Amino acid sequence: MRNPNPNPSCGTNNPGMGESHCSHILRQTVCYCGLVPVMKTSWTEANPGRRFWGCRMYGKAQACKFFDWVDPAPEDRYKSIINGLLRKKNQAEKEKEKMFKTISCYHIIFSLLILYFAIRVLV
Ligand SMILES: [Zn+2]
Repeated sequence: MRNPNPNPSCGTNNPGMGESHCSHILRQTVCYCGLVPVMKTSWTEANPGRRFWGCRMYGKAQACKFFDWVDPAPEDRYKSIINGLLRKKNQAEKEKEKMFKTISCYHIIFSLLILYFAIRVLV
């Protein structure tokens, strides 16, 4: 018998979890607005990197409360690893931002000094 699933690595639907939980298959159901839901990724401490289906209008006033997890709950070990990496990434981004501010401050001071000496030479 032929497998109706076009991607064998995808496996079958997760029993008791409704529709397909495969990222490469479009969800067939619709949200409470009647729209095809979109897959998003949670970056909360409790569910870092865990994908879910949400309303296409999420973030807008007319969005409904439709929500369904795609991935199973992450194990505590992976959760702490991902959260640790996220903290390091955020810290690195803050340091990079601070460094750029310092560099642009030096750039302004250097430009003003060149302008000052150029005026002194010309006058
Ligand atoms: Zn909706």
